[in-house]
Amino acid sequence: MTLAGVKRAEAELLVPTYDRQPVLFRRGRGCYLWDAAGRRYLDFLSGIGVNALGHGHPAVRRALAAQAGRLLHVSNLFYHDYQAALARRLAKISGLDRVFFTNSGTEAIEGALKLARAYARLHSSNGHKPRWRILALENSFHGRTFAALAATGQKKYRAPFAPLVPGVRFVRFNDVRDLERQFDSSVCAILVEPIQGEGGIQPLTREFFARARALTRRGNALLIADEIQSGLCRTGRWFAYEHYGIQPDIVTVAKPLAAGLPLGAILARERVALAFHPGMHGTTFGGGPLACAVALAFLETIERERLLARVRRVGGYFRARLEELKKKYDWIREVRGLGLMVGVELALPGKAIVREALARGVILNCTHDTVLRFLPPYIVTERQVDNVIATLEEVFAGVDAEQRSAKKK
Ligand SMILES: *Cc1c(COP(=O)(O)O)cnc(C)c1O
Repeated sequence: MTLAGVKRAEAELLVPTYDRQPVLFRRGRGCYLWDAAGRRYLDFLSGIGVNALGHGHPAVRRALAAQAGRLLHVSNLFYHDYQAALARRLAKISGLDRVFFTNSGTEAIEGALKLARAYARLHSSNGHKPRWRILALENSFHGRTFAALAATGQKKYRAPFAPLVPGVRFVRFNDVRDLERQFDSSVCAILVEPIQGEGGIQPLTREFFARARALTRRGNALLIADEIQSGLCRTGRWFAYEHYGIQPDIVTVAKPLAAGLPLGAILARERVALAFHPGMHGTTFGGGPLACAVALAFLETIERERLLARVRRVGGYFRARLEELKKKYDWIREVRGLGLMVGVELALPGKAIVREALARGVILNCTHDTVLRFLPPYIVTERQVDNVIATLEEVFAGVDAEQRSAKKK
């Protein structure tokens, strides 16, 4: 089918939840994608931070092919070879002890919130009502299911579905006083993204993150870090919280974990994880042999190809080049991010820029209306960064000319 044909069929047949860009992709290799007409695109979004080794990486293809021929699924009623092996790797890199596997990010959040409630109930002192409240942050994003949505501090996602799961309060972003004011003996967990992703690539301040850690530690509550977007080498460390020198009690991961297959995980400290008993939580698909085998190959590849250092180096180069662009245009407000998690805040809507870049063969997206977001694969090169910068220069020059003529009128 052609793009027009697919577009027409989807418009009739799909639940209308997506406003897609008009491109029909057929194949990918490395940092490039090709559409149905054979046009090539440089992928600086990686399927929203998922295809972290790019497309068609040999290690991923090998693991996939080998496991596809052996065993796809057995359910969690039985053992297979890869959950323990993958859990051991994840425990080692996170400083945590135990793992529960899910199929997505939002499911990892759901499970993490249930775990926090179960832990609070188990450890409530005699005669006291267990801690139950979750403190989340304004402007956050944690997913679309009911509890994850209840913890998502953005009205546009929540409003159509109220009433949501009760028990969540929102703290003003990076406002330490507000955090201290709202943290009381009803709070069982503070949930944060160390760097807000959908919220516009907004890092927590050191002071705020440290205060959340200190309050939860002293109050026997839990600190949950949502690393679904920022985790697993995206920022040049295994986890963004490492940049802050903070160890959370629970960490959620997903997006790049199985390099393109759906897989997420909850990582937890021993004492916290043991609040779940057999039967309290579960999933049919989560942690299947195929996804886990590929995830192991993904983590091994990061080490073998020394991608942590590469993400730091190329990410630093990318942000420096974006800073050069910022000097030229007064409507570029700020360049933010760490490693290859990069945002450019504009004083104008970013949608048209995304469209223009796409028309020139560069894929990025816009989040929070005015923030251009880049999540390129970890294997990206400085030359590919230069190509993207050259395209952005063209697009930005056009926007600038428009801005000037609008001002004259
Ligand atoms: C994408 C994302 C989620 C939701 O993950 P899904 O896999 O889409 O369910 C949750 N939290 C953060 C920080 C995310 O970026």
